[in-house]
Amino acid sequence: MDHPHAGTHYPKSVGEFHAWFPTDADCLDYLEWLRWPDGFVCPACGYERGWRLGDGRSMCSGCGGRTSVTAGTIFDRTRTPLTVWFTACWLFASGKDGISALSLKRTLEIGSYQTAWAMLHRLRSVLVRPGRNRLVGIVEVDETYLGGEEPGLRGGRARGKKVLTGIAVEVQEAGGFGRCRMRPLADASAASLHAFVREHVEPGATVITDGWQGYRGLEKQGYVHDRRSQRAARARGEDPHDLLPAVHRVASLVKRWLLGTHQGSVGNAHLASYLNEFVFRFNRRHSRSRGMVFYRVLELAVAHNPVRYQDLIASQQPREVPPTPPTRRGHPPTLERPPADRPWRTAHSG
Ligand SMILES: [Zn+2]
Repeated sequence: MDHPHAGTHYPKSVGEFHAWFPTDADCLDYLEWLRWPDGFVCPACGYERGWRLGDGRSMCSGCGGRTSVTAGTIFDRTRTPLTVWFTACWLFASGKDGISALSLKRTLEIGSYQTAWAMLHRLRSVLVRPGRNRLVGIVEVDETYLGGEEPGLRGGRARGKKVLTGIAVEVQEAGGFGRCRMRPLADASAASLHAFVREHVEPGATVITDGWQGYRGLEKQGYVHDRRSQRAARARGEDPHDLLPAVHRVASLVKRWLLGTHQGSVGNAHLASYLNEFVFRFNRRHSRSRGMVFYRVLELAVAHNPVRYQDLIASQQPREVPPTPPTRRGHPPTLERPPADRPWRTAHSG
C-alpha cells in the first residue's frame, strides 16, 4: 500500500498498539491482511479461494493444501508467540534509534539473550526490500572504517579489525541529504568500489568522490564523475574534510549509533545487517509516524523467507540473491473483507 494511514492501517500510538493486538489471533489477522491484501492466494498452487480453519491456518479450495499466513516468513517455526513478536517489532520500529538485544530481553522479560538477539536479527534481515531503487541525482561516495569490536568470551569484548565500509549519500540541490546506502567492502580496489557504486547508484547520476584512484573510470560505467582532490583543496587553503560533507556526516552518525544503541557490541560478521538497519532508519528519519515504520517492517517481514538461527550465526556475508516477494494478486472470496474503519480486521470464520 502506498499511503497507509495512522489509526486505520497501523496503530498511531503505543496505547492503540496494545488495544489492537491483545492476542495472537489479532496479530494473525493483521499479518494475513498484510500478506494477502487482495485476499488469500494459495502459495502451493496459486488458487485464489480458501477458508480459515479453526487452528488459524487457511485451506486452499483448489488443492486442499493447508497453509499458515506465517509459513515462509520470518515468523515461521519460531516458538515465540506473535504478541511477543509484535511487541518486539513495535519497540524496534518506534524507538528512533531502535533497541539493543539486551534492552529487548529486559523489556519483554524474555528468558534468554540469544532469543532477543535472534529476534532482532530476524527483523533486520527483512529490511532490504528486493528490487529497491538505486540512489539518483547527486551522490557522494566514500569509504570509511567501522566496527572493530568483537564479542569475546564471557561477554567481554576483544579488539577486532575494523571493516572497510562503502557509504553513498544523495545530496539535494537545495541543501540537505536524501537517502543513503552502506555495505562492507572487500577492499578499496577499483573492482570493489565500482561494484559498490553500480549496486547502489543509478547510471546517469553525478558521483562525487575524493581523488582515490579506485574511483577512476566511473565515467565508463555511465556516471558523471566529479572527482575532488584533497591535495587541490589543501592548496586552495580549504579543509579537505569538507569535500564530502554528506558521507562524513552519515559516517559519524552510524559510528555514534553503533557505540550508543549497541554499545559497540557489533561483531564484524554481523556488521552488514546492522548497517542495513541504520540505512532503513536513516532513510525513514522524516516519517511522520513511528507506527508507519512498524507497518513497513511487518510488511517486509511477511514478504520474506524464513531465517533460521543457524543461518544467522553462520552467515558472514549479505545475501547475494534477494528473496522473491510473494505474489500480490488475488481476491477475497471467503475471507470477509475488512470493514472500512479498520481494513485489516477480518471476521474470524468459526
Ligand atoms: Zn492450493
